[in-house]
Amino acid sequence: MGTSYSNESYECRNCSGPIGEQGEINGWRCGACGATLLIHAEDRNGRSALLERVQPELIKKHDLIIPDGSTFDTTYEVLDISKERDGTYRMALRGFGVRKKINARFTINRLA
Ligand SMILES: [Zn+2]
Repeated sequence: MGTSYSNESYECRNCSGPIGEQGEINGWRCGACGATLLIHAEDRNGRSALLERVQPELIKKHDLIIPDGSTFDTTYEVLDISKERDGTYRMALRGFGVRKKINARFTINRLA
């Protein structure tokens, strides 16, 4: 999860940067202050959305997430998320079912 869409641009919600080029973005956080970046993105249908790309530990109930590669009209509400004994995450999504074994380092597209 967490791959890029076309025409992305990045903005820090906290400071005025510098954010750096896409290839330099470290964990989708601001290089200056460490806040989660706001990502302005466009899907393949030309629809735009404001996203964040966060690791599972930052996902909360009722967040709306977008599966990798999906257009922005495909969102799933997080019903529950929990950390398993092996350090992976388990996430229940409305209308999708349960995803298991989500690596703690994965980044997930969430509507901001
Ligand atoms: Zn910042």
